[in-house]
Order: sequence, then structure tokens, then C-alpha cells
Amino acid sequence: GVRVRIAPSPTGEPHVGTAYIALFNYLFAKKHGGEFILRIEDTDATRSTAEFEQKVLDALKWCGLEWSEGPDIGGPYGPYRQSERKETYRPFVDKMVNEGNAFRCFCTPERLEQMREAQRAAGKPPGYDGLCLHLKAEEVEARVAAGEPHVVRMKIPTEGACEFHDGVYGDVSIPWESVDMQVLLKADGMPTYHMANVVDDHLMKITHVARGEEWLASVPKHILIYKYLGLEPPKFMHLSLMRNHDKSKLSKRKNPTSISYYSALGYLPEALMNFLGLFFIQIAEGEELLTMEELAEKFDPENLSKAGAIFDVQKLDWLNGRWLREKLTSEEFLDRILTWASENGRLTEGLKLAQSRISKLGELPQLAGFMLASDVGLTPASFAGLKTSPEETLEIVSTVQADLEKILEWNVETIEAELRAISDRLGKKLRVVTPPLFVAVSGNQRSLPLFDSMALLGRSVVRQRLKVATQ
Ligand code: ATP
Ligand code: GLU
Repeated sequence: GVRVRIAPSPTGEPHVGTAYIALFNYLFAKKHGGEFILRIEDTDATRSTAEFEQKVLDALKWCGLEWSEGPDIGGPYGPYRQSERKETYRPFVDKMVNEGNAFRCFCTPERLEQMREAQRAAGKPPGYDGLCLHLKAEEVEARVAAGEPHVVRMKIPTEGACEFHDGVYGDVSIPWESVDMQVLLKADGMPTYHMANVVDDHLMKITHVARGEEWLASVPKHILIYKYLGLEPPKFMHLSLMRNHDKSKLSKRKNPTSISYYSALGYLPEALMNFLGLFFIQIAEGEELLTMEELAEKFDPENLSKAGAIFDVQKLDWLNGRWLREKLTSEEFLDRILTWASENGRLTEGLKLAQSRISKLGELPQLAGFMLASDVGLTPASFAGLKTSPEETLEIVSTVQADLEKILEWNVETIEAELRAISDRLGKKLRVVTPPLFVAVSGNQRSLPLFDSMALLGRSVVRQRLKVATQ
């Protein structure tokens, strides 16, 4: 039967692009009566965190994209977290080395940097030059025995092209000379994405790989690894990335891209799935409002466009409005509001912060309303009367905006620590730096404690508010 997967790397806030690819796979499984599984690709130990992994799981659950096998629930082909499968990959790498399809490479980072430098200078495309390909077997053995650090790279044919069929792109041909001798096993014994991805898709019996178009150029490497291992590759489908109106790739520098931002603003998961699902079906105007069931019925993976899925927020707003008005009873509507407001403690914890700051409860909306607002309505006047000059205010807000991503774990302590570090760097007192941020985040000069508010609002909402404040 059909088995598909979503294989996110827990290296950042879960991305709407991940929801879009996950939805495709989910609908594909539903359409074919197959299985949709979740695998965590955390071979990059320096960038993967447990916090982000939990957020990926929570975000996909919030979307309503339930998986039937995954790191939280197990399954017949587990573990479903690559960092726990290190030993699983080794025999596959060994087979490729023993059969002469992969080789050990002892080049140091310095040598690789020199090589790249020379390639840049000569205007040549980057890629490993094959120095270690020519080492004698005895020398390799001796250096391995001496414990010299090394990686394993795959061999690549020197001529011809890799021809394959893609469910979206049709017949594709990529010349081998454009394919790099990919590292398969890193010096610390962890596989790279390519190696782990292929082995796991095989062991987890994945029949169809549907993922973002940025992976299309990696298919030759994957097909070659399957071939070296004597395995049958799955079918591939590379989905067009989501784009801004100007066709540039949707990216958090331009638009909010994290799922949590859209849930924090009070989009319904059904509406977000409806919006994303419309990229995978063809329907007439007037028939856009669709539940997950209806999306699965109309799902049409044969007719996907390469044009790029434009992330049109106005259309999302329109669909969300329709969901609120047409799909919910008034009880359900109220229920949604209460669930939304209490998610992540925004309302409950936010209101507690107000206790020492009001003289009557009626002041709450004015003081704490920014915890729930989708927009705090900043104007230049919002910043008037601060001790900092407009230039200083802008400098403070943009510095914090630029440094937001440095805060790895997002909580009151880490936020405070980073803001202290920024104050030091700017040569200002913390109490000078915080008022402009108060205004940017809350729209108000009088508001709840800054660090707690930022922690409760979440990184993606804060990022967007700071961005608006600097525009
Ligand atoms: P940045 O904006 O900093 O370049 P990013 O937005 O590309 O980062 P990543 O962390 O690189 O985010 O991607 C996270 C996941 O989201 C990846 O699995 C990637 O395939 C997917 N993704 C990122 N951007 C898009 C997009 N525009 N369309 C579809 N999927 C995307
Ligand atoms: N870990 C990869 C990603 O996050 C998975 C790509 C794939 O599906 O093969 O994009």
C-alpha cells in the first residue's frame, strides 16, 4: 500500500511550508487509503533542538494532520528520530565503501576551504575535486588505523546524465558533472541528510516522496545511493515552493512563515488547511470553502502546477472569515475563541500579569488587549514622548529585531538575558532600551511587563511586531 511521510528537521519554528508539504502527503495517503508517517530528521545536531521538535509535533497536530507512525507514538519501523538510528546507517555506508562506490576522504576543513577559494577564483562551479579518490588502499587503511578523522563520500559517474521521472516535473535529466561527491557519513559517524533520508525511506517502506522543489537537484544523488545499495527508489514528486506576490520564495524575512504565527492571530486550522489545500486541486470559483474530507475527495496530484503557490494572505483572511461565519455554530464560535485565547497561556497568564497594574477590571482590555490583537495599530505618535530620540528608538528596535534569532530557547530568562546583552552592546541602560520595545510589542507606553509579554506572545508574533515598528 501507499506509504508517505513528512520528514521535518527540527531546526526552527515550524514553517507553513512544512504544513503545506505535510498536507499534500496527508491527502495523498487519504486518497489512496495509505499511511502518513512522521520522521524527525535531526542528523544536524548543532541546529536541531528538542524544543523545536516538540513544536513541530504540536504544529502538525494543530493543523489536524495526524500521523499513524512517529516519534511520539512509535510504529513498526521505529525509532522515527534519526539521531536514534545512528547504528542503522553504518552497514549501508560500509557496503558502499566495500564495493568501491564510496570512499574515505581525509581532506581537512582548511584544505576544502582553499579548494573552494581556488574554484571561486577560477570561476568554476563548487564541488569536491576528488583528491582522496586516488588514495591507495594501503594508505587509506593506515590512516584509518591511525585514527585520522575522515568522512565518507559517494562516487559520482564522470559522464552522462541522471534521467528520472518526477510526478510534477515529468522527465528530468541532470548531468552527472553537476553532481557533487556528496558526504554520506560525517567525521563524527553521523550520516548526512542524503544518506539517512534514503536509508530511512527504504527501511520505512516509503512508496512516494513528496517534498519541496528545493530537493529536485538532490534526486540524482538519492537515485545513485539506491542503485549502489541495490534498492528500488520510491516515486518522486517535487512541489513548487510557496512564494510571495513578487515570486520570491516565502521567507521569514519578508512574511511571517511560522505556523504558530497564524494560530496566534486566530486563523482556524481548518481555514489554513483549506487555503493550502487549494494549491492541490482544481475547482471553479465559488467552490473554495472545503473541509479536509472534501479536499481529500477533490485532491488531484496528477495536475500540479510548477508555477509556485502564491501565499496570498488576503485570500487566507477571506477563507478564514468564511469559515468563522459559515462553518461554525455560535456555540462553536465561542468555544474557538476561548480555546484560542487560552492557548499558550496568552490570556490566562497575560491577565495575571495585570493584577498589580489596574484599579478596576474594566481597564483590562486597554492594558492587556495587545496579548490577543492581530495588530497593535502602531503610528509614529505611539512612540512620541519616549526619552529616546526617534533615531535611537529605531536603532533599538531594529537591533533587537535582528538579534531575535539568537535567542535559542524562547522564555522570560533568555529574552531578558539577550536584551541585557544588547543594551550593553549599544552602551545604554536596560531601562532606556525597554520602553521603545514596550511600545513596539504592545502599541502602548503603559503595558504589562515586557519580558513576560514577549515570552507569552511567542517569537513569531514578536518578530512581526518589531518588523512593523521599524517600517
Ligand atoms: P529562511 O527564510 O531563513 O531562508 P526558510 O523560511 O527557508 O528559512 P527553513 O528552515 O529553511 O525555512 O525551512 C523549513 C522547512 O520549510 C523546510 O522543510 C522547507 O522545505 C520548508 N519551506 C521553507 N520555505 C518554503 C516555501 N517557501 N515553500 C514551501 N516550503 C518551504
Ligand atoms: N528534512 C528535509 C526537510 O526538512 C526533508 C526533505 C525530504 O522530504 O526528503 O526539508
